Amino acid sequence: MKHIKNFESFDFNQTLPVTTKNFLTNFYSCDECDAIWKELNKESHKCKFCNSTEIENLSEDEFYNIQKSRLEEDEIEDMESERSNDSEELVNLFSLGSNRYLESKTFDFSILPEDALKELSDYVDYNNPENKVEVVPDPRVDGTFALRVYRKSDDCTFDLLWNRGDYDGVEFSSWPPTSGDLKFFI
Ligand SMILES: [Zn+2]
Repeated sequence: MKHIKNFESFDFNQTLPVTTKNFLTNFYSCDECDAIWKELNKESHKCKFCNSTEIENLSEDEFYNIQKSRLEEDEIEDMESERSNDSEELVNLFSLGSNRYLESKTFDFSILPEDALKELSDYVDYNNPENKVEVVPDPRVDGTFALRVYRKSDDCTFDLLWNRGDYDGVEFSSWPPTSGDLKFFI
């Protein structure tokens, strides 16, 4: 039994924050030259190939559907296996520069689970385009979301954390929050 550590003596600094590679990947396409590419834990602001700034963010599915349509039959298998490796391969967040998960992805309210969306209407009319809701999923805790809300009626910006079926009022020191932002990872 000597391998079991007491709770008190367990060094939490030794735990590694990890996430899967695909979650850290941003997918892009270029409107000018039609190229598609992906970046690990990095944002692109211009095309990797022609430097045009007319680029689009793609979802993972969109990216692979486009790639699939451009590949030969025998190349598709390689692509599929690369994709599944990326969804299984764990990345130690500490191994990324400056000990942080650098670029959180920001989404709109549509990615929130139904009960989170329902409760959000207590805070803001999210269907009103004058209000703004940005959502960042916690890369480490499935089903947890950080929200930054702007409410036009009283010109107020505030942060919320959706965690296990409830909102907490929080204040993120940076937006989007990073893994170094402890409040994000309750
Ligand atoms: Zn291009």
